[in-house]
Amino acid sequence: MSSKKKDIRALSKEELRDFFISIGDKAFRGNQVYEWLWNKGAHVFDDMTNISKETRNHLKANFEINHIEVDSIQRSSDGTIKNGVKLHDGLIVESVLIPTNKRTTACVSSQVGCSLDCKFCATARLKRMRNLNPDEIFDQVVAIDKESKLYHKMPLSNIVFMGMGEPLMNYKNVLAAIDKITSEEGLGMSSKRITVSTSGVPKMIKKLADDEVKFNLAVSLHSAIQETREQIMPFAKSFTLPDLQESLEYWYSKTKRKITYEYIVWKDINDAQRDIDALVQFCKKVPCKVNLIEYNPIDDGIFQYASNEALENYIFHLEKNRIPVTIRRSRGKDIDAACGQLANKQ
Ligand code: SAH
Repeated sequence: MSSKKKDIRALSKEELRDFFISIGDKAFRGNQVYEWLWNKGAHVFDDMTNISKETRNHLKANFEINHIEVDSIQRSSDGTIKNGVKLHDGLIVESVLIPTNKRTTACVSSQVGCSLDCKFCATARLKRMRNLNPDEIFDQVVAIDKESKLYHKMPLSNIVFMGMGEPLMNYKNVLAAIDKITSEEGLGMSSKRITVSTSGVPKMIKKLADDEVKFNLAVSLHSAIQETREQIMPFAKSFTLPDLQESLEYWYSKTKRKITYEYIVWKDINDAQRDIDALVQFCKKVPCKVNLIEYNPIDDGIFQYASNEALENYIFHLEKNRIPVTIRRSRGKDIDAACGQLANKQ
């Protein structure tokens, strides 16, 4: 399906301005087109109503707007909506709209498939096909914002990068997308309402700190014992806990922003006292909070959600050590839209 025309959204604003100068038009026209693309989310040139027909035809002759198509929509009984999103080359990713009382959160994908190998995650079983482009991430947000207004009568309020893929393995495009989402010329959303969730890639966490990003960071920890973590997340052999810890200390020293650890407690894997003690020690190194997430089974039975007693024991010891802890209930389980269940089953 690839054509020779260039995707116009791969151009910076400067490049757009230069294009118009090169065809003898005004540079300012570039700003107008940029606004259509990144503020209004236009997917066809003919929507650009303040651009003359002649200029639109000129654009059509030179460029195309690669964009996503929401291919399927599934709605859960709890209000969660899952979009199957078709990319310009036919590949599919998923994104999810999660409504709560006062807000709606978009859970977006950053890669087609995933480069990592978490044993408990359905997405890890899909081969990583490619990284998403900034516009493909941006489009997911725009699509969910529209659905939020339509079905929940409010604009999208939060974004989490917890869909398919490892955002820090697609660093440049994820940051470029966030730039379009947060900048005044783009969607103008606050960075404070955006959370990037990583399995823990130390080098890239340091880079985030150096790049002075303003969004929140969540780390999928799941175990603070190296041996256990390697078993459930084999890539952790290369991205070890000491390196992760060092990168998080660096993040905090630069940003002064707390880290959220996502953590699932499984029966016979990390539900013993030594697992809790290790987590408490890990949490004492850098200001943080712990989000205990409910496990969404992905069918082979090796991983089983721990007992309530084990969960309560975690909460007791974390609270005793004044580490904030919350439990996150899963949403959208009936449509395979919950964490770790995104696997293009449709
Ligand atoms: N790669 C990133 C973002 C995608 S995963 C990361 O690892 O953080 C988003 C979250 O879902 C992570 O916290 C991940 O550990 C969690 N998750 C994966 N599989 C899950 C499952 N089966 N049940 C519940 N949460 C799961």
